[in-house]
Amino acid sequence: MEIRAAVARPPGVFSLETVELDAPRAGEALVRIVAAGLCHTDVAALDQHLPYPLPAVLGHEGVGFVEAVGDGVTRLAPGDAVVLTYGACGVCANCQSGRPAYCLQSRRLNFAPCRPDGSCSHHALGRPLSAGFFGQSSFATHALVRERNAVKVPGAVTADELATLAPLGCGVQTGAGAVLNVLKPAVGSTVAIFGMGAVGLSAVLAAKLAGCSRIVAVDLHAGRLDLAAELGATDLVRAGDGPAGPQVQARVAGGTDFAVEATGIPSVMADAVASTHRTGTTVLLGLAAAGSSVTFDASLLLSGRTVRSSIEGDGVPEVFIPRLIALHRAGSLPFDRFCRHYPVDAINDAVADCRRGDTIKPILHMDAGDFRRFGRSSAAA
Ligand SMILES: [Zn+2]
Ligand SMILES: [Zn+2]
Repeated sequence: MEIRAAVARPPGVFSLETVELDAPRAGEALVRIVAAGLCHTDVAALDQHLPYPLPAVLGHEGVGFVEAVGDGVTRLAPGDAVVLTYGACGVCANCQSGRPAYCLQSRRLNFAPCRPDGSCSHHALGRPLSAGFFGQSSFATHALVRERNAVKVPGAVTADELATLAPLGCGVQTGAGAVLNVLKPAVGSTVAIFGMGAVGLSAVLAAKLAGCSRIVAVDLHAGRLDLAAELGATDLVRAGDGPAGPQVQARVAGGTDFAVEATGIPSVMADAVASTHRTGTTVLLGLAAAGSSVTFDASLLLSGRTVRSSIEGDGVPEVFIPRLIALHRAGSLPFDRFCRHYPVDAINDAVADCRRGDTIKPILHMDAGDFRRFGRSSAAA
């Protein structure tokens, strides 16, 4: 079938093109994409900091409605509203032990430019495009996904609500999961969170939800710190005014119980570790440049501190995403506060806004009519 897709082409721009998409094969579902969030990993692939062969259809925070399913698909049916997330095999040792983010087939299922059998699902003018990015390639009117990439949205859902749920597939799941699944802070705990992008702000929301008594937000930009304060941060540290570790320690005597690092910058990783007290735990979420290394005072590790990383917040998407949807519906996880909506035709503007730091989480609507209608019903009420 013919679809419309934002194709990433060298030297780092998206072009809206007509693309030929295969019908769903065994184990695949065809999803009509309503909207998709733009994540830094998409921009990293566009810029080729993350090697993914271009031209390609990127996008890995899609939401939409299932239109058709291939043979053997049993959990999804046409009409289902779904949040798309990363791919995992479901059968390896890590998947079987409830850690699908560490799936042993992860590279093949998320970063291969074609299906596992080598066939290409997307073509433009008869030439294959790289697709299947995070098992979805959702910057398009339609996506082909494996059954495990799609999480059903519970209950009735409008296209408007579905569009707001897009960042659950990666950014929100990662930041909220780092707090709720990895750190599991006891009520009254203290946490420092580095980098107020979508991941860091989601961690702020989750820390507030978990009852943390002190939530120290660290960022370079005053505007982002103001937003963090509105969303629950109790203390703000402007990075760049000297090393952030001592500044956090000055606010929370002895250091915080926990630190969350969401920038991927090695010096910030070291700051995060230095912010915690003896026996504190730091979780690293940011994607560091390949080959980079982190240096910190080795004596920090002699005091019982823990440093670990997390991919996608360690959750099981089929369980965790519906929980996050319920929290969002209850008003307890207002991640829509840092999202900005665009029609997909403005995808290059969204990338530019993201690079400048003007937009934290762009959400791209695949249908211009949907975009024009978006928010109208609630605004009129
Ligand atoms: Zn697996
Ligand atoms: Zn992402």
